[in-house]
Amino acid sequence: MVKAVVGANWGDEGKGKITDMLAKEADIIVRFQGGANAGHTIVNSYGKFALHTLPSGVFYNHTTSIIGNGVALNIPALFGEIQSIMGQGVPQPKVLVSDRAQIVMPYHILFDQYEEERLGGKSFGSTKSGIAPFYSDKYAKIGFQVHELLEEDTLKEKLKRVCETKNVLLEHLYHKPLLNPEELFHTLQEYRDMIRPYICDVSAFLDRAIKDGKNILLEGQLGTLKDPDHGIYPMVTSSSTLAAYGAVGAGIPPYEIRQIITVCKAYSSAVGAGAVVSEIFGEEADELRRRGGDGGEYGVTTGRPRRMGWFDCVASKYGCRLQGTTDVAFTVLDVLGYLDEIPVCVGYEIDGEATTDFPTTGRLERAKPVLEILPGWKEDIRGIRTYEDLPQNCRDYIEFVEKQIGYPITMVSNGPGREDIIYRKSAIS
Ligand code: GDP
Repeated sequence: MVKAVVGANWGDEGKGKITDMLAKEADIIVRFQGGANAGHTIVNSYGKFALHTLPSGVFYNHTTSIIGNGVALNIPALFGEIQSIMGQGVPQPKVLVSDRAQIVMPYHILFDQYEEERLGGKSFGSTKSGIAPFYSDKYAKIGFQVHELLEEDTLKEKLKRVCETKNVLLEHLYHKPLLNPEELFHTLQEYRDMIRPYICDVSAFLDRAIKDGKNILLEGQLGTLKDPDHGIYPMVTSSSTLAAYGAVGAGIPPYEIRQIITVCKAYSSAVGAGAVVSEIFGEEADELRRRGGDGGEYGVTTGRPRRMGWFDCVASKYGCRLQGTTDVAFTVLDVLGYLDEIPVCVGYEIDGEATTDFPTTGRLERAKPVLEILPGWKEDIRGIRTYEDLPQNCRDYIEFVEKQIGYPITMVSNGPGREDIIYRKSAIS
């Protein structure tokens, strides 16, 4: 049985916590896209962790953690993360890395910085982890797959060829120091030694695991609105954030993905550029940011304060639809307990017309939120374990959102810990 955990919005919905919780029942957890550009925060009995590359299942010793072929693999970052969690007392995790995963090269990170510098104020708000240059090279067919590290002669020859084209850009466009293929070769030899114990034919491994009836969890990064096709292009990430891509990025048949759990946060937060229609500002935003998540809404990778907004039903309905949602996990609901009234964005007004359909980027920039105000519950709901024990106004909020988005909310998360979860039967199926 394969399940996917993905995000409905801009990312940071709390996927890490939901994956960590579901990992208890899982044999294998797979990262299938993205790179070290986003992070998950996980709180468990070992402590609090920010993971960028490792799947959230690394904290259980019964699970195998897999980096699929679709990931932008930053080898020193992965290696460093394994060392660091072990340094905090977590037992050596079982990690496998696809022999077809491509490697984030040191120059991808440099190009990311140089391009942001060049664009100045018109930049996309990249985390400068090399992700966009990495995926450009992948699709331009000048990337390096992990297995190429094991073929020294062809590797040297290819490095020379790639450096030639990169150096033209470095010299004439960016006016920066040139790449040295010999030096890069030595770096890649170090990468090879770090990654060698983990290399695996992942799709064959997963094929056997599926036939053996193993429980497999696909762990998405970011959310629908950051998808390069269906998101707010060009303020998106460079690999698909959709559950459908889980099949490609892990190397499994699409029909094997039986459950798609889409994580929606009870309010909005976003990083980087792009329209957030229900965005709030000033003291109202500061307070939600301060109280949000677990210790405030600040980027896990960059520490940047996140942009804040009310729950956006238009974006979330669209986000759930593109994911192919079977279940919604509604998270961080406990944070809203301080509000007397809770605005919810139920529609957009674009050029004088109301809509509940999520528009393309140009129209999105012109959209104004249509808000409906719901009463708050003014109570701390952390620690509540059954749906019926939630305050009436809180249940009304959940059911209102569920009706607006049209997908079943079967899990409600009311705290950052694994046990802070309320399962519910939805009337929608
Ligand atoms: P991800 O990238 O989707 O995993 O999102 P983040 O790592 O940004 O997670 C959001 C933050 O919210 C993290 O600090 C989590 O520990 C925290 N979190 C997750 N679920 C809940 C919840 O239900 N309540 C609270 N208060 N915090 C939560």
